[in-house]
Amino acid sequence: MTTNSLYSDLQCVECGKSHDIHTIHTLCENPDCKAILSAHYNFSANTLTKEELKHRPATLWRYKEFLPILNEEHIVNLGEGFTPIVLIQNLAQYTNGKTVLLKDESFNPTGSFKARGMALAVSKAKELGVKECITPTAGNAGGALAAYSARAGLKAHIYMPKLTPDAFKIEARLLGAEVIEIDGNIADCGKLVNVLAAERAWFDVSTLKEPFRLEGKKTMGYEIAEQLDWELPDVILYPTGGGTGIVGIWKAFGELEKLGWIGSKRPRMVAVQSDSCNGIHTAFQNKAERSEYKDNGFTVANGLRVPKPYADKVILQVLRQSNGNSVSVSDAHILAALHELSSHEGFLPAPEGAALWHAYKELSASGWIQNGERVLLLSTGSAYKYFDNIRAPHEEINEFFI
Ligand SMILES: *Cc1c(COP(=O)(O)O)cnc(C)c1O
Ligand SMILES: [Zn+2]
Repeated sequence: MTTNSLYSDLQCVECGKSHDIHTIHTLCENPDCKAILSAHYNFSANTLTKEELKHRPATLWRYKEFLPILNEEHIVNLGEGFTPIVLIQNLAQYTNGKTVLLKDESFNPTGSFKARGMALAVSKAKELGVKECITPTAGNAGGALAAYSARAGLKAHIYMPKLTPDAFKIEARLLGAEVIEIDGNIADCGKLVNVLAAERAWFDVSTLKEPFRLEGKKTMGYEIAEQLDWELPDVILYPTGGGTGIVGIWKAFGELEKLGWIGSKRPRMVAVQSDSCNGIHTAFQNKAERSEYKDNGFTVANGLRVPKPYADKVILQVLRQSNGNSVSVSDAHILAALHELSSHEGFLPAPEGAALWHAYKELSASGWIQNGERVLLLSTGSAYKYFDNIRAPHEEINEFFI
């Protein structure tokens, strides 16, 4: 049965070349280009109304008309999406005069928003006849790929830095994936994946080198709009590693405007990074068009250890177009923020999400976020898989937990 998807074209973001939507693709096939591909939809043919949407199941598949899967049979669904948005209510000394909301992505299958991207990537891979997938991962993408592959009957091959907490390795192996541990960072894993994908003809689902993880992540933007009754917040803070979330949410807002469901007002988008890998932050502050490779080693926020995002140029464009900002946060501040949010509000955010709370406090103290504004923290995952990091024997870290 058809999904009534309005998916109509797969276009290169740089050269505009169209790609056949019925065959499998990674990057632009123009050899001089190799840029990111982006899914397009025939929004003018939409007949779904906001009212009908209200009666749909509470998963990201409620937006199936605006997602690329063409046949219902190929949807791989573990209940992903439609995560709650919760008010920060007890830390009033920091939130007075503002409304600070947290979208809690720990509710997703495998405990992070990576489920959204992998649900779409694996469903589409299944639709196009793929049998084996491969990805480098800082942890959460591996677990999510393993879960959706298990469900879809595909084989997953996962390349993970050795330093990743055990929970991520155990999770992916339980879910039936092959997990290879690499003595290096995610960029080193990425290089190996590149070679193996070509050699074995395994489908490479690396961040933004595959077009549909972005489509899964964009559903966060649809949900923010729908859950806030089609009034977007003034500011969105997002923990930026590879950047699919920030690019996806921005894409969603553009699509919702085409649908006539929101106007032209946009939130100011803030990329929050770890001091370990803050190439986007540095490039944004220096008004550069692209980021430089940057890796200062271990961070408790594994997902933010991305030395050079493939989509750096697009991420920086979103920050500029939205009059946004960037913040870089130390591990000590990330852990203090995590403890503060957990002990006062009852959340257990992954360190990546906790970094947003510190960044919010900085931007609020400096006046960049003003009284009367509504702020959304996109808390991307759960702390449970990170307990090895959180107990790491670093003096400056442990002092927050005595
Ligand atoms: C992967 C990951 C990120 C970074 O997400 P991008 O969309 O690649 O920037 C942030 N938080 C968590 C928990 C992650 O797993
Ligand atoms: Zn191109």
